[in-house]
Amino acid sequence: MIFDEVLPAKQGTAFEMAAGQVLRIIDLEGQQVPDLLCIKREDHADKLSPPNTQLLNKTIFLKSGHHLYSTRATRLMTIIEDTVGVHDIISGGCSSYTNEFRYGVRGTASCRGNFEKALAPYGIPETEIPYNFNIFMNVTVAPDGTTAIEESPSKPGDYIDLRADVDVIVAISNCPQLRNPCNGWNPTPLRMILHEPEARIAPTHG
Ligand SMILES: [Zn+2]
Repeated sequence: MIFDEVLPAKQGTAFEMAAGQVLRIIDLEGQQVPDLLCIKREDHADKLSPPNTQLLNKTIFLKSGHHLYSTRATRLMTIIEDTVGVHDIISGGCSSYTNEFRYGVRGTASCRGNFEKALAPYGIPETEIPYNFNIFMNVTVAPDGTTAIEESPSKPGDYIDLRADVDVIVAISNCPQLRNPCNGWNPTPLRMILHEPEARIAPTHG
């Protein structure tokens, strides 16, 4: 075990993962979305690409066994276990700009703001931060292409395990969105457990 921490509601964080290490993110209270991105530690230009992730997995609905791919088609991380099976790769992350556009409110807390703060110590400026993978986020796509953000089906204790396939910097925003159903209208804490591959942990419940 490398760490076992609670990420408070609305907060962000960043840390390094070595290839092979596994990150478990547990939705403690249910219906909470962690926005996650990863950047190759040795080359910050080689970073998560949601379009390449869709292209190379041939789906917008990622499940266990799918990979997170980079701008240069590097396999950065793999979903190795997942108790929810509902995630989003097409909707990016909330920002103060899109919140102002959608809800007419200026200066809101946002995932983009959390990423900017969390990645500043790594020398990664806001303009270089990629768009992200939305874990447990329920974005429905109608046959005519219309998209909608719905409440997440994740229950208390649901989790996802992600393995780093190369050395990466990982940033997570515990989404602070209050103005749509993304987080069930109530942002809540997440638990993060980072461990070595040989220390695969048993399923967690509740
Ligand atoms: Zn957000």
